[in-house]
Amino acid sequence: MFVKVAIDLSLDRLFTYSVPEEFQKKLAVGQLLLVPFGHRHVRGFAMELDNAVSENSAFKIKPVEGIVDETPFFSPLTLKLVKTIALYTASPIESVLKAAIPAAVVKPGARSKEQLFVSPISAPVDFDGLTGRLKWLYENIVRLDGGWMQFLCKELGTTSASIKALEKKGFVEIAPRRKRRNPMGNRRVLPSRPLCLNAEQASALQEIKKLAEGKCLLLHGVTGSGKTEVYLQAIAAELESGRGAIVMVPEIALTPQTVQRFASRFGERIAVLHSALSDGERYDEWHRIRSGDARVVIGPRSAVFAPVENLGLIIVDEEHETSYKQDEMPRYHGRDVAVMRASIEGAKVVLGSATPSLETWMNVSRGKYASATMTSRAGAGTLPNVLVVDMANSENGGKIFSGTLMDSIASRLERCEQTILFLNRRGYSKSLSCSLCGYVATCGKCDMPYTYHKADNCCRCHICGGWIPVPARCPECGGAMEYKGVGTQRAEAALKACFKRARILRMDADSTRGKNSHDDILGAFRRHEADILIGTQMIAKGLDFPNVTLVGVLNADSSLSMPDFRAAERTFQLIAQVVGRAGRAELPGEAIIQTYNPAAGAIKSAAAGDFVSFAKEELEERKAAFFPPYSHLCVISLRSKDAALVESWAEMYAASLKKVKDLVVGDAVPSAIEKADEYYRWQIVVRSVKVSAVIQAWKWISLARPAPAALKVSFDVDAFSFV
Ligand code: ADP
Ligand code: ZN
Repeated sequence: MFVKVAIDLSLDRLFTYSVPEEFQKKLAVGQLLLVPFGHRHVRGFAMELDNAVSENSAFKIKPVEGIVDETPFFSPLTLKLVKTIALYTASPIESVLKAAIPAAVVKPGARSKEQLFVSPISAPVDFDGLTGRLKWLYENIVRLDGGWMQFLCKELGTTSASIKALEKKGFVEIAPRRKRRNPMGNRRVLPSRPLCLNAEQASALQEIKKLAEGKCLLLHGVTGSGKTEVYLQAIAAELESGRGAIVMVPEIALTPQTVQRFASRFGERIAVLHSALSDGERYDEWHRIRSGDARVVIGPRSAVFAPVENLGLIIVDEEHETSYKQDEMPRYHGRDVAVMRASIEGAKVVLGSATPSLETWMNVSRGKYASATMTSRAGAGTLPNVLVVDMANSENGGKIFSGTLMDSIASRLERCEQTILFLNRRGYSKSLSCSLCGYVATCGKCDMPYTYHKADNCCRCHICGGWIPVPARCPECGGAMEYKGVGTQRAEAALKACFKRARILRMDADSTRGKNSHDDILGAFRRHEADILIGTQMIAKGLDFPNVTLVGVLNADSSLSMPDFRAAERTFQLIAQVVGRAGRAELPGEAIIQTYNPAAGAIKSAAAGDFVSFAKEELEERKAAFFPPYSHLCVISLRSKDAALVESWAEMYAASLKKVKDLVVGDAVPSAIEKADEYYRWQIVVRSVKVSAVIQAWKWISLARPAPAALKVSFDVDAFSFV
């Protein structure tokens, strides 16, 4: 008997070992094994069992040395999923295994220490034999229903010797137990009962229940339409039939508030996995899932791999969120993996969003996915009035705040209501636009904003590789061209100057470095310790502040002019999400959107809350320009400290790819960030109707011409980022 083992060396191959007699009965795929490798002993996952050795190896086959844990870390179905992802993302299988299991879980010595737990015996042998202090102690242990030795000694002001005396007399039992390191701490969670669903929710739940195994449903519901309650009841139905569930949420939305809503309904059956857990907590949560103690898992994209047995349902909340895409190897998309896993394990998938991704929307239009729609808010509140302010008119030109927005903020301050201001200034690339009319230099062939490159003072298209010299003046109105530049800090300063007495909080990557600063800022705002919250996309989603009646988007164009074919989609999502922040409770809300392009489709339809028209229009454009979802778009990125090396290899790879039929290959171009960390960066964009055509071509070419050690090359299938 032989076993193929995946060892974490990024060699993209499995190693064969023989299985000694003593392990033959116990060994199973998915287990972590101890094997010799060179002069070392390493750990690796058992991937396949074989009766014969197929490869004609010159090496002597060595035996497995041990089984680290007899319970497999991966089920055969999860291994199948892992292999599928390795193929789809063109990543080594070890990298996918690593992504699929928290490092803390397989790290040696991560188990929690056992501690003594005292449980009262309900029918003690001889109750009369107990008097005085010991009787009092016993009664209190019964009252507390037992507890950790340490806790009881402190709580009851006693010693372990006294409790042991009770044990000798047969009143309590003392046994070592593993103490759960609970990420929710010892906070008490009040249980919640299912709400009575409104008609739209009830019919959505019905559709989910009707969904066939392995199938997918889009829950398209406006912000506040009560999607979470639908998720909760759909999960409850799965639990009743003995099946488990996974709830995926964007990392940023994984706040105690969100977790609380699930914990209130399902209590101890919840496990939470997210990046802020300590190793110990993560270890315990993962094992609670594997053992079946926890049946509902809530976490970010990696939660899709949670070892839930007999999985019935995967929910991907805010399915359009880009944080589901991992931007390091393996570059998988959590939503897509959810769909793959569901089809392998016969589970259902619910994709929830107010602004579905166009990929998902197309799957719905083609009848591949089912859908349910919820158009009105479930609880209190109505969708706010939306006002689009044209910043190109003479009165507002060049300003950060329009007169309309200033007046609205002032009236909120007077009424003691709160305002959220939103400024999407990400550290993306620089785009060049006209300071007067907002014109953005755009590649005519691809309909994409050019990216400004300082090194050779030109504008390049990152899809086809075309370029133009930097325009001296705006070709439309003759105004001066400028780099978009107002960030949150500058806006905050300007705001303080206008409203001297207003209390202002700022939330962006800089103000949220500390561990709890994120929650601290939001908590302070919720307690009305500030009147205005100004921030980046961090504040755009998922937050529910009843006293916020005004939301302002300072510059909707900064996301519209991003050199990304999804720029219009992002702008729509952003505005829709931001608008959803206002008027969550009884007070009516207002949203003000400042833009130089009031006529842009994304802005017009977002202001009208009309996703369907937006999607229709945008899909036509995507189709004409051969962008996803009509093509798969993959990015090959190269980086090296040697500028000439990276350029020549990028050009060589682009030339080789161009010879492959069925592919649309752009010229090699320097990346938007041309140099980072001493590395020069180049990229090639490849598109094709068939993703397998790109993957195969790339595998073949990269094998035929493997990059030298001084060159790092990555392949991003269905890319989301072009930096
Ligand atoms: P979404 O996730 O779609 O943005 P939420 O689930 O956050 O919406 O729901 C918005 C608000 O409506 C919440 O405060 C929730 O408690 C409330 N709510 C949801 N469903 C109902 C219902 N059936 N009856 C009353 N209130 C509801
Ligand atoms: Zn182009």
